[in-house]
Amino acid sequence: MELKQVAFSYNKQVNSLSDVTVSIASNRITTIIGPNGSGKSTLLGVLARHLLPQSGSAILDGKVIADYKPREFARKLAVVHQMNEAPSDLTVEKLVAFGRMPHRTMWMPSGKEDDEAVDWAISMTNLQDKRKKRISEMSGGERQRVWIAMALAQRTPILLLDEPTTFLDMYYQYELLELVRKLNASLGLTIVMVLHDLNQAIRYSDYMLVMKDGELLHQGTPEQVVNEQSMKQIYGMNVVIRSDERTGLYMVPVGISE
Ligand code: ADP
Ligand code: MG
Repeated sequence: MELKQVAFSYNKQVNSLSDVTVSIASNRITTIIGPNGSGKSTLLGVLARHLLPQSGSAILDGKVIADYKPREFARKLAVVHQMNEAPSDLTVEKLVAFGRMPHRTMWMPSGKEDDEAVDWAISMTNLQDKRKKRISEMSGGERQRVWIAMALAQRTPILLLDEPTTFLDMYYQYELLELVRKLNASLGLTIVMVLHDLNQAIRYSDYMLVMKDGELLHQGTPEQVVNEQSMKQIYGMNVVIRSDERTGLYMVPVGISE
């Protein structure tokens, strides 16, 4: 995917994205970071085609994304939103089956391929024991896995996730990030996600995009992007950068910079 000089504003006064040019590498994990309100979700929204740029272009496989037919686009790219609402009396397997919509014809019952995709998505997300459970009976971490399963059932090469670890405890956060890594490593999925936690972003990303005030200020590998100067510039924080042989590079906030 490629964005060329993309600008987007919700109201004509302020740009929530200005002049964003970026190329998203296939089969890699790209993470968007930046302060609150810096345009991370807006950028993801443009990639997901929920928001159409007022200027510039968004391109997928050489074609402007606005030119894709809805079903065609939905077979390329799946999204897991930050907040998800579902009728809570729905069971896991029913909800996951919604991921098959772009592959099905309205008047046809689900076929073997649909059932296989649902089974596969449920097993990838380790929900086999929970498939008959209702969404209302599940914990936050389990629910988040159900949303990912629904996106996986869509069987797309690209998966977008907006802050998938927010509201989860530490165990479920890492479980989810390990799942993302597994999906990338074993299936070659192209992942673009927004993360709040910088140390998680450093550890689980091949490439990072750093947003501030609607601009893409830095991009590169975690090593290239996260340093004492950039953290001061972006977050107004003094930090130290350390390295651990098991977890690699990590950052420790020291205090608010003057
Ligand atoms: P982030 O995800 O980095 O926290 P967003 O992309 O949600 O930031 O928001 C970027 C900017 O756009 C912010 O200034 C925010 O207030 C504004 N914004 C986001 N969504 C809307 C909306 N639906 N209507 C108007 N302004 C919005
Ligand atoms: Mg956001």
